[in-house]
Parts: sequence; structure tokens; C-alpha cells
Amino acid sequence: MAQYDFVIAGAGLVGLSAALALTRQGLKGLIFDHGTAPRRASTTTKVLGLDRSPRVSAINPVSVDFLIQLGVEPTFFDQAGCSVSGMTVWDGDGSGELSLPSAGYILENYRLQDALSNAICQPSIADMLTQQFGVGIVDLQQDDATVSITLTTGETIESSLLIGADGSASRTRDLLGIRSVAWRYDQSALVCVSETALPHQGVARQSFTSEGPLAFLPLPEPNHSVLVWSSTQAQAQLHCSDKEFSAMVSAHSARPLGPVTAIGARAVFPLQQQHAIRYTKGRSVLVGDAAHSIHPLAGQGLNLGFADVAALSQVIENLRLDQRRPLSAVLRRYEAQRRPINLRMTAATDLLKRVFDPPSPLLRLARSTGMRWLQDQPRLKQALSLAAAGHL
Ligand SMILES: Cc1cc2nc3c(=O)[nH]c(=O)nc-3n(C[C@H](O)[C@H](O)[C@H](O)COP(=O)(O)OP(=O)(O)OC[C@H]3O[C@@H](n4cnc5c(N)ncnc54)[C@H](O)[C@@H]3O)c2cc1C
Repeated sequence: MAQYDFVIAGAGLVGLSAALALTRQGLKGLIFDHGTAPRRASTTTKVLGLDRSPRVSAINPVSVDFLIQLGVEPTFFDQAGCSVSGMTVWDGDGSGELSLPSAGYILENYRLQDALSNAICQPSIADMLTQQFGVGIVDLQQDDATVSITLTTGETIESSLLIGADGSASRTRDLLGIRSVAWRYDQSALVCVSETALPHQGVARQSFTSEGPLAFLPLPEPNHSVLVWSSTQAQAQLHCSDKEFSAMVSAHSARPLGPVTAIGARAVFPLQQQHAIRYTKGRSVLVGDAAHSIHPLAGQGLNLGFADVAALSQVIENLRLDQRRPLSAVLRRYEAQRRPINLRMTAATDLLKRVFDPPSPLLRLARSTGMRWLQDQPRLKQALSLAAAGHL
């Protein structure tokens, strides 16, 4: 029977980062995914004449440092993404506006996936890590010494540690019998590449429209952004004509970016917020969306996942230096570190969503006044910028 130091279910961005973090410690592992191996050609098509995908993430400076430590080339971020210099949010229905300094990058998810896969291909890592695609998890059993994992191929493998990085519908979480609390929103997120009359100047923008938050995330091209519109109207917006949709967006983009001049293919993602009631059981542990998924309006889900992996990797490294504590106790330490932080971000994001949901006139007035007040509070704004940058 094949034996590993760690096995990771799910080769998304968080699972890949965990594989790199642990193999860099000299541990031997397996990562498997029930999807096919990522192929660049299958994830991107020419959009508005550009080689751009509308699935992007705002990556904060703490995540950038973490990815560089894992072996992603420091030049990758400027070459592949758009450096963010500020963020502006405004109340689409009122007169409140708030501008904050910001840092980090907007990166297409598939480019980040490529960068992590390239880091995994380095010989010192590749020798330590087995990757399998088109493979899922069927069963798991664990005792004090090992986890036995049965795969959809029929093979059973043994590992000292199992990491569930298999996303918000985590099968690993289900097999561990870990419940999660879910808030199903009535919103979906519509994403697409857009071109606007005015340049974005590296500023990430978000308008709280009466339908829901509409973000413009800057791409490397000066007049191109990915728009992410979270609303109850996403299905209708998906099926209306380009002209109708551009007009809808232009009504909100006009102030900072001018009207929309072109729109790429649209895609829709259902949204929900979810939190596992615990992150670990025995020798198994959850990271990323398998442990928590949040509304994208704060652009933090992936950043929280990377922070989980950084914390998990640190407690495992400490265990290797001092082996007196059992693995299960070390994993509980990881949970104690990460769960309160992730819960705070989940609660803050949920509150933001509710405050900016289609509001009563009184709430609209209060929120515009609040934004104007906050705009004149440099210390509070600095605290908000630090939180967004990953310094929680
Ligand atoms: C519209 C939108 C915009 C967003 N914007 C941002 C942003 O700006 N910044 C940010 O930080 N976050 C953002 N997020 C959140 C971010 O995308 C997620 O938090 C992140 O992708 C989660 O990564 P993950 O690797 O944990 O999970 P996933 O990306 O879901 O990956 C899970 C992997 O596990 C595999 N898998 C699933 N089940 C099994 C199984 N049974 N067996 C084997 N493999 C399995 C899947 O194939 C997949 O490869 C956004 C989300 C959305 C929807």
C-alpha cells in the first residue's frame, strides 16, 4: 500500500499551495483532484482581443509574500497581474464615497495556478510530490497512527496527515462528519471582462448598487477591468444582450470610469457563505473553502485560504522540531489560530452585505453619511487598509 507523509484532496489554488509548503519541508506527499489537470487552453479564450479570463482574485500583500516564499517568481506578479494602488467604494444610491490606499495584485486564477504548478515542477519538489487528476475520495478511516484513504480508482493509500482542500462542497469534510453552518444568499456573482472609456489607473472600485455590489477589478491593460456583480439579477443579466448589459453597467461605471465600451463573455457563480464548525478531526484537517467560504464582495476568500496554509505549515514545522506533542493536538492549535480570524472576516463580510443590500431610505442615508464620515478619519482608514492587506 502506498504511504505518504501527507495527502491533499483538491488541487485548487489552496491545495497546491499546501502541497508546496509541505514538500518544501522535506515531506513526501500526494495531491489528487477529481477534475482534469489544469490546461491553459481550456480556461481562457480571447476576450475583447485579449488573452484574459474573467476569473480573477485580489491577492493581498501578505499572500504575495507567502507565494514568493513557496517559490513563485517575484517577477510573476508584475508580469501577470495588475498592481493595485488604491480602492474606492461608493454608494450607488447615495452620495457617500470612501477611498483607501491599497496594495497587492489582481491576478487571473489560471495564471496563479500556472505559477504554482511551475513551482511544483522544480526537481526538488517534483521528486517529493505525486499528482493525480480525475481522482476523487470515496472513504477514509483514521486511527492514532495513520489515515487510510480510499480513492475512486479503488486504490487505498495511507498517510500521516490528510488535508481537505476540496472546496466549499468538500467531500472530505462530509466523510469526516464535520458539519458546517451555511447562509445561502439569494445572490449570484456575474463576472466578465469589460472595457471602459476612462483608464482605471490601478484602482479597484466597488459600487454598492441597488441590485448588489458591483466591483471593477483592474487588469494590466489600462482600460480593461473584470467586473464582478453580485446580485439577485445575475441570471437575467447573463441572458440579456451585450448592448443592454453594457447600458446597465455604464449607469454605475460612468462616474469614475466612463461608459462601458465593450463587454466580454459573461459567467455566473452562485454565492453562499459557509463555515465548518471545526477544522480538524484526528489526523485530518480542512483548509480554504473546505473550511470556510465567504461572499466575494471583500475579495478575501482565497487570501484566507493562503493564510490557513501558512499557519498549518508553521505548526507542522514546529512539530517536526519538537515531536513531543501528538499531531492531533498540533492540528487543534492550527484551528485555534485560524478559526477566530476566519469567523471575524466572515461576520464582517456578512454585515457589509446586509448593510448594502437593497436598503430602506433611512439605511441609505445612514450609510452615505457613515462613508463620508469615514473618509475624513485617517486612522480608521489606515486600520481598514491594513485589514484588507491581510494584517488582521
Ligand atoms: C466571483 C468570485 C470572485 C472572487 N474573488 C476573490 C478575490 O478577489 N480575492 C479572494 O481572495 N478570493 C476571491 N474569491 C474566493 C476564492 O475564489 C475562493 O476562496 C478560492 O478559490 C478557494 O480556493 P480552494 O482551493 O480552497 O477551493 P476551490 O477553488 O473550490 O478548489 C477545490 C478543488 O478541489 C477539487 N475537488 C472538489 N471535490 C473534490 C473531491 N471530492 N475529490 C477531489 N478533488 C475535489 C476541485 O476540482 C478543485 O480543484 C472569489 C470567489 C468568487 C466566486
